[in-house]
Amino acid sequence: MCSMMLAAALGSAFALGSAAAHPLPPASDLPGAPAPQRHIAIVIDDFGNGGKGTEEMLNLPVKFTAAVMPFLPSTHKDAEMAHAMGHDIIVHLPMEPIRGKASWLGPGAILTSLPDDEIRRRVEAAIADVPYAIGMNNHMGSRATSDERVMRIVLQVCKEKGLFFLDSRTSWKTVVPKVARELGVPLLQNDVFLDDIYTRRHVSRQIAVLRQELKKRDSCVVIGHVGAPGLITSGELKNAIPALQSEASFVRLSELLPAASRAQGSKQR
Ligand SMILES: [Zn+2]
Repeated sequence: MCSMMLAAALGSAFALGSAAAHPLPPASDLPGAPAPQRHIAIVIDDFGNGGKGTEEMLNLPVKFTAAVMPFLPSTHKDAEMAHAMGHDIIVHLPMEPIRGKASWLGPGAILTSLPDDEIRRRVEAAIADVPYAIGMNNHMGSRATSDERVMRIVLQVCKEKGLFFLDSRTSWKTVVPKVARELGVPLLQNDVFLDDIYTRRHVSRQIAVLRQELKKRDSCVVIGHVGAPGLITSGELKNAIPALQSEASFVRLSELLPAASRAQGSKQR
């Protein structure tokens, strides 16, 4: 289930509130209110390559989800460290984009030109290479995630291994929701990219977008990166986290999944 669908399922009480003439204030505004019911899941992409901001991200004062690329120099080290610090680990699977350099993809990429059996082999190898992975998301992938043949194989392997999928939504033509629903793979989706432009100003604006999104839904998934914007994004997140904590709790992706899928995920490595 994507976070939007999850929000829709969980949000009927809020929908009633917002339709009323005098909507109730958010729970966090009430004196003596219990812990905020809204959830922010930070996902940090591109671990595995010693990218800038790796340590700063791992040391953020909240739990998040580390998306680790397979077959890179620090794939194993980053996954081990992030797991030891209590973060969730997912495979950050390199997938073919419509635009972009082949060198940005990294080893073992899923290309739409590959035959079925080679796609399956690459997805299985990627999962085996990232210790403690309980889910998967796409690195780039605007072409691959809109290809139904390719995504059916990727998501079928996720299903067999008990992994959920986070659709980074790099393409508005993504077929991931349709195929994941057909196969019964637990699905989440990205709501806000924090650092598609590498400036403090942009990242802080995207954090403001996140705050707006939180007024509309119970949970929000945001994606940031280590690497080129890593120091900027980790710095802005560190500054923003204390204020955000008064509005929402920070969770790992596995905490946004329905209980049945969580139980399945916990059986994984
Ligand atoms: Zn990536």
